[in-house]
Amino acid sequence: MQRRKFIRLSSLGASMLAVNPVKWNAAPAQPVIVSTWADGKHVNEEAWKILSGGGRALDAVEKGARWMEDQINCCVGLGANPDRDGIVTLDSCVMDEHANCGAVAALERIKHPVSVARKVMELTPHVLLVGQGAQQFALDNGFKLEPQELSPSAKEAYEKWLEKSEYKPEINIENRKSSNPPPPMRLEDGSFNHDTMGIVALDASGNMSGGVTTSGMGFKMRGRVGDSPIIGAGLFVDNEVGAATSSGMGEEVIRICGTHLVVEFMRQGYTPETACRLAVERIVKRDPEKAKKLQVGFLALDKRGRYGAFAIQKGFEFAVRSGREERVLGCKYVYDYGVT
Ligand code: ASP
Repeated sequence: MQRRKFIRLSSLGASMLAVNPVKWNAAPAQPVIVSTWADGKHVNEEAWKILSGGGRALDAVEKGARWMEDQINCCVGLGANPDRDGIVTLDSCVMDEHANCGAVAALERIKHPVSVARKVMELTPHVLLVGQGAQQFALDNGFKLEPQELSPSAKEAYEKWLEKSEYKPEINIENRKSSNPPPPMRLEDGSFNHDTMGIVALDASGNMSGGVTTSGMGFKMRGRVGDSPIIGAGLFVDNEVGAATSSGMGEEVIRICGTHLVVEFMRQGYTPETACRLAVERIVKRDPEKAKKLQVGFLALDKRGRYGAFAIQKGFEFAVRSGREERVLGCKYVYDYGVT
């Protein structure tokens, strides 16, 4: 080959490499699931019943999310904290290996928003249904209207919140005293310290899916929707590369299209943990002082089954389950409760 032509070809090769350096193995065979927070271990346990039998990642994440939504005194589902008008509104989404996705936001009185989100994906040409329309769609598809009432723990927390009625959308600074053992779901004042179950999984066929379910930020403004049901913010799956989910201050995640960004970093060849770190740094860099007062955690799983997480604050945890391990892990962070 002529020298000049060779140089031209090799520099073209280098620039192509820079754009897309990762060649993913098409056939990983070990299922892995990761879920946000320590309670993710129960979610994983449910999901594992499907994954370990060779089932589909989408079915596994839905099953895990439904388990979480069934818990009464919890940060997810109808037992969770209401908005500041005292009404529980739920957000959820799913995304599968074909980039099909479905979501619901501000859904009231329906027990399993994750399954409604899946139906939006499967039965409509749309991605996101909200509010009354989402509820109507759920009822039309066989979901039951649940009573409009707060769980005992949510009622107590709401009454406490009403004493000051202070609108302070600062969430997810974990309980300082409790990183080890894993933090309880509630802070000392009765409020929840986090509100989202995000799940991503790789199945035995090498396919990836994810799901998110949440009541969103506790005592939020009526109508407020966070990152959780927004594809590319609270959840993103690219079956060629990996998947990511998030928990924390949704507005900050939406601003950077957080989970889409994490997946794009993995596409560039970064490990899941580094991809999460780079996304967290985007948030922190924009306003480090503001970031000191809030939490965002990203959790990612790549096509090879490698996982990782990174958070703004200390205290973000996630649970992993595979054929080899079953545990709850902490992750690296930028601030130790607001301190560098
Ligand atoms: N990301 C959720 C939201 O902003 C809340 C959370 O994860 O705690 O609604």
